[in-house]
Amino acid sequence: MVSVVSIESNQLSTFRTAHRFERYAEFKSGEEFIEYCRWADRHSAKIYILGNGSNTLFTRPSVRSLVLKNSLPKTLEALPNNRLQVSSAVQINEVLNYCCQNSLDSFYYLASVPASIGGALAMNAGRGKLHNCTIYDFVESVTFLENGAFKTLTNEQITRSYRQTIFTGMTRKLILSAVLQFSPANFASNPLQERRQWAKEHQDNTLPNCGTVFKSACYPIMDRLRGLRIGETWFSNKTSNWILNKSKSSASIVTLITLTKLLHLLALRKIEVEVISVD
Ligand SMILES: Cc1cc2nc3c(=O)[nH]c(=O)nc-3n(C[C@H](O)[C@H](O)[C@H](O)COP(=O)(O)OP(=O)(O)OC[C@H]3O[C@@H](n4cnc5c(N)ncnc54)[C@H](O)[C@@H]3O)c2cc1C
Repeated sequence: MVSVVSIESNQLSTFRTAHRFERYAEFKSGEEFIEYCRWADRHSAKIYILGNGSNTLFTRPSVRSLVLKNSLPKTLEALPNNRLQVSSAVQINEVLNYCCQNSLDSFYYLASVPASIGGALAMNAGRGKLHNCTIYDFVESVTFLENGAFKTLTNEQITRSYRQTIFTGMTRKLILSAVLQFSPANFASNPLQERRQWAKEHQDNTLPNCGTVFKSACYPIMDRLRGLRIGETWFSNKTSNWILNKSKSSASIVTLITLTKLLHLLALRKIEVEVISVD
């Protein structure tokens, strides 16, 4: 039974912008997701699968896409040989707490990331470009739903690049779960606390944000943009490529992004947006 509603909220993106979501629903099973896809077909609506919204920018005051919030049961099941089967609705930090308590190596560099497992897998979430480590270093397989069929791909079969996979953006491929594989580790100190301390020192969480905004950009330009402000939205003074937002409207975020793209265009520099725009 589908239940598409219209709601007003500022909780669906970590930019905390306020919107009217004309078509919003929460699915609790793959079967319900299939029903919503049929509803979208009948109403010619685009679908957006929402995890925690920590990489999501809603661009209009009134959002027309069918926003489907992942409300699958949160399951985390231990398998033999330090493997774990997790549903996509589980939080990154739930997995990291499990790994830390069981002395397993893991993607502790994501301890400061407010993401769901589904969102992290869709975005190929990881450390910065220089480090070349992502959650996929720990993925054995991913199970997803596409065109009404349940499919499983092994790690090697999942095409991906920096912050990009076959699941990124406005697709209808719903990640249901993944099998993760870890190896035993000895910790001299708590890796979660270490990473959170690092984030306090190097990132800027003083106001709502979605982490880094561009997946590739020219840093000499980005450094000069620090502190650039439009209304209640500005580039962080503390760290580059990081927008802080106090505004209810996303218009100022969109303008800052457009301006940054324009400056790169004029300087003949490559730029690619990381946050996913949804209208
Ligand atoms: C403070 C802060 C720090 C951050 N640091 C990092 C970092 O160090 N490294 C990094 O990589 N990112 C970082 N990010 C960005 C963001 O957290 C990641 O991209 C994260 O993976 C997004 O997860 P989410 O659940 O919030 O996804 P959302 O923002 O809800 O969605 C992002 C994308 O994933 C898709 N998606 C979500 N769930 C599913 C699903 N179940 N099936 C299919 N597709 C799905 C969406 O459709 C969309 O395309 C940071 C963000 C913040 C706010």
